[in-house]
Amino acid sequence: MGLWFTEKQTPNVGITCKTSNTLHVEQTPFQHLAIIDTVQFGRMLVLDGMVQTTVVDEFVYHEMIVHVPVNTHPDPKRVLIIGGGDGGTLREAVKHPYVEKATMVEIDARVVETSKEYLPELSSALKGHPRAELLILDGIKYVEENPNTFDVIIVDSTEPVGPAEGLFSLSFYRSIFAALKEDGLFAAQTESPFFNSDLIRRVYRDIAATFPIAKLYLANVPTYPSGLWSFTIGSKKYDPEQPQGRFPDLDYRYYTRDLHRAAFTLPRFAADLLKS
Ligand code: SAM
Repeated sequence: MGLWFTEKQTPNVGITCKTSNTLHVEQTPFQHLAIIDTVQFGRMLVLDGMVQTTVVDEFVYHEMIVHVPVNTHPDPKRVLIIGGGDGGTLREAVKHPYVEKATMVEIDARVVETSKEYLPELSSALKGHPRAELLILDGIKYVEENPNTFDVIIVDSTEPVGPAEGLFSLSFYRSIFAALKEDGLFAAQTESPFFNSDLIRRVYRDIAATFPIAKLYLANVPTYPSGLWSFTIGSKKYDPEQPQGRFPDLDYRYYTRDLHRAAFTLPRFAADLLKS
């Protein structure tokens, strides 16, 4: 019969997956961490009961959170990743030949160590890459302490609770603005337009108040709440809908140059969130 894992995504909705194995469970200083094998989505990282990534659908999220902002910038030499403990975002960032250095700042060393052990498909760049740097620190503090340093910043955070709460705040967006060079841009995962409309409205308002260009884009991630996932970009100069990048031909599975533009074409209900 097998055991089933359920993430209660809202008080009224959940996702349930049949599991074949529970490989690891622990309470870290920051969160409850589990690695389980599911029949449909393969190996899954779960933090505080919430699905973070699965080996079957992770490519959608990681390609879209990295290549959209990186290919918007004509010369993305320095990239900063906040969070991203499983390593998928760092893996995608260092694939990009024009990225000279990708720094990842993750608060919880246990997420990194456990991903290195159980999620080899995602964590390859965490095991040592000549252009990757890993720091175990609070991303909020790190951003405050490094002004005018980065071309692109990617906020690959957990949901806005616990240590990630401050990663969805106006003061953090102001620190990101200061940490970017004069033509820099940033992208953050900003949850589901179906289930997190208030959060998307607030985050978009705050990013639009901080950056001259603010845009929302979407991708389909089957294991995330509602399956429709949003990302928000704040940019000082380059419009992500008119990308200035050099579009290297990488081993994409979801991202394409056409999809890059298409992802900004929003369904009416999502576009309306940004107006209100
Ligand atoms: N892709 C995932 C999603 O949307 O569900 C998120 C992946 S990644 C595992 C998120 C990481 O953000 C976690 O490992 C967590 O420890 C980290 N994190 C949370 N707050 C942080 C902070 N203030 N500074 C740095 N990392 C943080």
